[in-house]
Amino acid sequence: MDLSSEIAATRAALLARIAEAARAAGRDPASVALVAVSKQQPDDRVDAMLATGHRVFGENRVQEALARWTPRRAAHADLKLRLIGPLQSNKAAEAVGFFDAIDSLDRPKLAAALAEAAQKAGRCPDVLVQVNTGEEPQKAGIAPGEADAFIAAARNEYGLPVKGLMCIPPLTEEPAMHFALLARIAARNGLSQLSMGMSDDFETAIRFGATMVRVGSALFGARG
Ligand SMILES: *Cc1c(COP(=O)(O)O)cnc(C)c1O
Repeated sequence: MDLSSEIAATRAALLARIAEAARAAGRDPASVALVAVSKQQPDDRVDAMLATGHRVFGENRVQEALARWTPRRAAHADLKLRLIGPLQSNKAAEAVGFFDAIDSLDRPKLAAALAEAAQKAGRCPDVLVQVNTGEEPQKAGIAPGEADAFIAAARNEYGLPVKGLMCIPPLTEEPAMHFALLARIAARNGLSQLSMGMSDDFETAIRFGATMVRVGSALFGARG
């Protein structure tokens, strides 16, 4: 099989698994979106994915995303690009100008920088708050116990369009309890979008209410 057919087949199989997981959970398959995580993937795989008609991509670094997607965006006006990695405040303006969604808001300083950049730009991407459900010191995300207050501040003090939450569970733990925790925090804050689940655990995440799964290696193959 050539690369285009291989990528198209992998995507079709993954979408089928997503739909099946949704149905098994009594959910509408259309309520779960696939974010294709293209970070560190070679261009030919990304272009093969674009050729399938897929339009929603996740990147974890601003510079890498700009280099890859600036020319491709000119050819595909309907692209939706999501920043899923940590963002430094000094790159907030660049990120606001480029991404359709920033899924990694996790601290007041960044909220302030995004709000200022959005005001200057006259536009603001959708925002997800990242929660460090495992309270891992090396991982980004607001602590679960501070999430409610931070979400309220992001909305009310900084005026950001907070749509939902994102988490990356600890590698060494069952993800289910982390997904359940994220869903509870979203529900009590009236947030509808839940970005959770990656290549190894997206079906579990869908069972716990994921509306977006972020899949890289299971879609494109191992990263370079
Ligand atoms: C890399 C990455 C993914 C995709 O991981 P895979 O295991 O390759 O599916 C998802 N979310 C975030 C935040 C990532 O950095």
